[in-house]
Amino acid sequence: MRLALLQPPAWLREGPADSLARALTVARINFGDLLRAHIRQGTQLGLRSSEILHRGPLPDELITEIVRDHLRRTAPAAFLLDHHPLNAAQALALDELLHELGTPLDKVVHLRLPTEEVERRVRHQSARRLCRSDPTHHHKPSAGTHALDACNICGGELYQREDDTEKNIRGRFSRHEATVAPISHYYARQGRLVVVDAVGTPDETAGRVLSALRWHGH
Ligand SMILES: [Zn+2]
Repeated sequence: MRLALLQPPAWLREGPADSLARALTVARINFGDLLRAHIRQGTQLGLRSSEILHRGPLPDELITEIVRDHLRRTAPAAFLLDHHPLNAAQALALDELLHELGTPLDKVVHLRLPTEEVERRVRHQSARRLCRSDPTHHHKPSAGTHALDACNICGGELYQREDDTEKNIRGRFSRHEATVAPISHYYARQGRLVVVDAVGTPDETAGRVLSALRWHGH
């Protein structure tokens, strides 16, 4: 089975892609991993990417080239694409590429965040504090507890990232919704879209996706 996941932005680390790929026994292809490997190995694509990344986001053509390079070299018969495509132009280019390779997508899973889940994540993310002494010391106060004054790992001063305000985070979610909507409609028109609510743990979401796929005959 060949799948792509459209998922909420705050899920870059803890999404259900891993459990899902394992349950389906398909290769997980994460765009971020591909990019990091190119940069680490100093390939032509890696050098071009890191030069552009200093100034801003990667253009769609380069993103598609990185995906093309991977699919050409590894030619997987089954896979789960994670964090790609991220807009309508990338979706069109991906379809063209997969058509060329004779491995079109079977389904595209849209992990939708219900409004109350967006609000919960906005509150959670805006409560996040970072440690000035060590950026790897993250602090996410759990429900009902107050924000800490100092880092409980090293005692360093805690601060809120400038773009972590509620307004900014809500803005990030709505921009994400606005870019995902056309991709989602595009696949829905082709009868390939499966919409699943992204609530609960990554494993719970993965379980829900599996049932939905089974229901669609996979
Ligand atoms: Zn610290």
